[in-house]
Amino acid sequence: MPLPIDYHTHPQAHSIKPYTAELLQPWANSARQSGLKEIAFTDHDRYLEGVDFSEIDKVREANPDLKILAGIELDNDPVTGRAGRMWVEKNWDKLDFVLGSVHYLPNDTEMFDQVTRKDEFAKRDLAADCAHYIQNVEGMIERGGIDALAHLDLIKIHGVWHPEGGLLPHFSALLNRIRREDLAIEISTAGWRKPVGQQYPHVDIIRAAQQLGIPFTLASDAHSHAQLAEEYGRLEELLRELGIREVASYEKHRCRTITLT
Ligand SMILES: [Zn+2]
Ligand SMILES: [Zn+2]
Repeated sequence: MPLPIDYHTHPQAHSIKPYTAELLQPWANSARQSGLKEIAFTDHDRYLEGVDFSEIDKVREANPDLKILAGIELDNDPVTGRAGRMWVEKNWDKLDFVLGSVHYLPNDTEMFDQVTRKDEFAKRDLAADCAHYIQNVEGMIERGGIDALAHLDLIKIHGVWHPEGGLLPHFSALLNRIRREDLAIEISTAGWRKPVGQQYPHVDIIRAAQQLGIPFTLASDAHSHAQLAEEYGRLEELLRELGIREVASYEKHRCRTITLT
């Protein structure tokens, strides 16, 4: 059976495109074709103006065989982050699922995960950047209003950081915090199409999360409906190798477990 959920998608991609049937239906079609049972629309909160809950309801009615989650990817954008959090608070009852993510390092106006910044990152003190990154993820958890964390070790994106002892020592305390706060983390195929060439998060981090009993969602971080469930065959193999037989499913922020078949 194909993997059943893709909980990280961007129907609006990189600009405000108001939700309509024309925008959203291709995502439902593509989900069905990929064998998905559940998808979450999680556009960036900087495009929250385009999100329309009544249009999501219409797509739900038109596609009763799919579970469609209303969601958002809330990040630490220094300009829009605050408005995003207020919007999430206001619309909490209409939202099923909120992803928290960190795309900005302190005093930086540009997202650190821009592929154009690879050469710059090759010269930076990545251990210090990672510490700042993790402080920001903790700040996100502190402020609340999220259900799961997206691409947990995104700081590795440029593939230029190879810390001795791996990434896990940098993330263990954070994982404990995630467990205490009852949050999920996603296993995302998006890293396979980035310079690092590795899923998010690293297998060491996934294994540690398994030990702690942190629930997992699955994600492609698709910015086009054609990218939905991208590399899910490879993801399925990885889950099998790791012995992950369950994933988390959400509805109005309530988490339940789906067994993979
Ligand atoms: Zn992101
Ligand atoms: Zn995303």
